[in-house]
Amino acid sequence: MSFQLNCPNCGKRAVSEFSFKCEYMERPEADADFKEWGDYIFLRENKKGTQTEWWFHRSGCQSWFLVERDTTNNTDHKSFWYKDLKQKK
Ligand SMILES: [Zn+2]
Repeated sequence: MSFQLNCPNCGKRAVSEFSFKCEYMERPEADADFKEWGDYIFLRENKKGTQTEWWFHRSGCQSWFLVERDTTNNTDHKSFWYKDLKQKK
């Protein structure tokens, strides 16, 4: 399925220019137990619906950013920098 992503730096581009990394998850505290770190590294929700994900603009500005994307139809996505995620909370 082809769709467009909106790079916060370059604007809308074909998804083929980007690399998907994974869904965004809060990083555990440094002193978190082994299970919490294991879950953070290996487990994903793979949610049906809107989720926040890491994307990399591989064929463009070489920047990492976050996208809120509806996984059921690849629409309604919003792109923003990580620093803006922290401001949302
Ligand atoms: Zn870009």
